[in-house]
Amino acid sequence: MDDLISEARDAAGRDTAGRRSLSIVVPVYNEAGVLPQLHRRLIAVLEALPYDVEIVYVDDGSRDDSCQVIESFRAADPRVALLRLSRNFGKEAAMTAGFDHAGGDAVIIIDADLQDPPELIPELIGPWAEGRAEVVNAQRRSRAGETWLKRTSAAAFYRLMEKVGRAPMPRDVGDFRLLSRVAVEDLNRLREQHRFMKGLFAWIGHRQISVPYDRDPRHAGTSKWNFIKLWSFSIEGITSFTTVPLKVATYVGLLVAVLALAFGLSIIYDTLVHGSAVPGYPSLMVVVLFLGGVQLTTIGILGEYVGRISDETKGRPLYLIQERLPATAGRPGDKPSG
Ligand code: UDP
Ligand code: MG
Repeated sequence: MDDLISEARDAAGRDTAGRRSLSIVVPVYNEAGVLPQLHRRLIAVLEALPYDVEIVYVDDGSRDDSCQVIESFRAADPRVALLRLSRNFGKEAAMTAGFDHAGGDAVIIIDADLQDPPELIPELIGPWAEGRAEVVNAQRRSRAGETWLKRTSAAAFYRLMEKVGRAPMPRDVGDFRLLSRVAVEDLNRLREQHRFMKGLFAWIGHRQISVPYDRDPRHAGTSKWNFIKLWSFSIEGITSFTTVPLKVATYVGLLVAVLALAFGLSIIYDTLVHGSAVPGYPSLMVVVLFLGGVQLTTIGILGEYVGRISDETKGRPLYLIQERLPATAGRPGDKPSG
């Protein structure tokens, strides 16, 4: 780790053009229990780095004391900024708010629950400081403390997204990553309502590098994810990045229609050759129910896309801010360069 820190320092010394300040963005939703430890560990890591730093805490409408805790950090440390959203908008919107307001030459996004170890930050900075990458992803090596269901469903999801998505999505990469100024600006241009961030990070492209790490179990509090949420998250990912389901629906429909036509012809042939057959009830029922099922599924798929179109046409802002308390010192850009 020390090697990496000094590497970053060397690189910062060599490259004085736009590699001197860092913004750390932390989306926070009811995390009062872990915030003090997170803050302590963040500060310890950042002190050792040769950069001006701001820590942007985005309070995503927390109902516990998170906001007061952050305000106390801010009172003690002028590098802390607090962005309070007007209500809970969800992690994706909170991250977007953070990216919009972070001013650093590089922005690092990190979860508040200490599942993303702050100690990895110097390793994320390395490739960027050396000018080797615009995006440095933290890639999970192990998934300690996660259930079998979560692990297998996550694996299946990545595999599926790899198959259907157009932009390759690195596997086992969460939101923990570093983005250079260029990458942040590009990301900020994507203003869609349904923000499947993993997909957006992949979509912007640029040179991306993954740094492996071991993901810890949550430190305190509970995960805000449950199976239903994860399921809709996957639907989000798929419908935001591919129209393959619409094509599948078309082809399934065509196939069923062709089979139904063949079946119809065989019935007509039977009736003409062998006379009318009254006991057709079971086959009739099967055909009606099957077609009904296919149609409902297809309409459902269409609905997913139509719903997204409707959400986009409203053109609402992605989040609303109740209060913005900027960092008062050590802010990126404040110090003269040299
Ligand atoms: N979070 C947020 N808004 C929400 C839900 C979560 O800002 O509506 C934050 C949360 O405080 C944490 C991060 O997003 O810093 C990840 O949340 P969580 O640990 O619940 O997700 P998981 O690690 O299970 O993916
Ligand atoms: Mg977590």
